Amino acid sequence: MVAITEQEIRTLAGFKGEQAPVTSCYLNVDGATHVRHQDVVRELDRVLRSARERSNGNPSVAGDLARIEAHVRGGFDRSRTRGLAMFSCTAHDYWRVVELPVAVHSQVVVNHAPCVRQLEVVVDQHERFGLLLVDRQRVRMLVFELGELVESTAAFDQLPRGDDEDHSYTKDQVRDHAAARVRQHLHHAAQVAFEAYQAQGFERLILGAPDDLAGELESVLHPYLRERLVARCAIPLHASDDEVRRAALEVEAEVERSKEADAVASLREGVGAGRAVAGLGPTLAALVERRVKTLLVSSGYVEAGWRCRGCGWIGTLGRSCPVCTQEMDQLDDVVEQAVEEALAQSCRVEICVGNADLDVAGRIGALVRY
Ligand SMILES: [Zn+2]
Repeated sequence: MVAITEQEIRTLAGFKGEQAPVTSCYLNVDGATHVRHQDVVRELDRVLRSARERSNGNPSVAGDLARIEAHVRGGFDRSRTRGLAMFSCTAHDYWRVVELPVAVHSQVVVNHAPCVRQLEVVVDQHERFGLLLVDRQRVRMLVFELGELVESTAAFDQLPRGDDEDHSYTKDQVRDHAAARVRQHLHHAAQVAFEAYQAQGFERLILGAPDDLAGELESVLHPYLRERLVARCAIPLHASDDEVRRAALEVEAEVERSKEADAVASLREGVGAGRAVAGLGPTLAALVERRVKTLLVSSGYVEAGWRCRGCGWIGTLGRSCPVCTQEMDQLDDVVEQAVEEALAQSCRVEICVGNADLDVAGRIGALVRY
């Protein structure tokens, strides 16, 4: 499975159906809730039925729905796929499928561009990260992507046994020798971690090591890894891959929550100082004026709104465009539109989960250039 990247999401968000709308279909195919292929097909039928009712007989959309149905019924690799995202615009012969190792919320959206919000949530919430576990003799280096283990290496440096029984050494010499072996082992661990970084690449590193080793280990890490170090953990080295994975994902989720909290704190500080806007109306206005650096959105925030087909203006009030006076399209979810607009403008997008401060500030906001 090739994981979706932020760049690919931006490319998707940049596609516009000029002659016909784009149909986006997300399908939850998680084996935990949809055991058999026929359960998946039933889920598909459910979302397609309501989409057909809303398609108003548009032939391009009808073609999209047929293609989506054929793809799912035809079967796909379910061993690692928990979510499917399909984007179709028959009039432009446009077709993209993204298989995800995480579950999604099943929905069909017909709009002028691919609906990428759920993809953005997945990528934003599951950055690729490395986990380095070290004790006095052993090293385990794991890399996770979208919540799945993608690389695992281990190494072992035997500590010398019985040195203290060799009476030709003084006590100090024995201690120095043992310390040198540990230092060598830590260098080896740092090397293992750097090789995994070069092979896989990751944005964040989590470190698990006893307190008396952690400081020295950090000091011998390659600078690229030191600047990516975001947390320490107490995951035991002997844990199974699955135990490590679950514990690591919890640490990663905490790191993600604290990154979101930092962004929301910047938002709150910036509002009075003209460096940020909060609430739907001001945020959409800042997007239209292309002033946004970072868009912050509470996950699950949905609000109806309007979009102008002529000039691209988005806002909460219709029906005629305040800029060009053209009649606008009503949107079920203008927040989705805001995310797409931000991605297309190359802004950073931060989806915040359970952040009460952002909810109080209006569930959406932006750090702005001016
Ligand atoms: Zn307009």
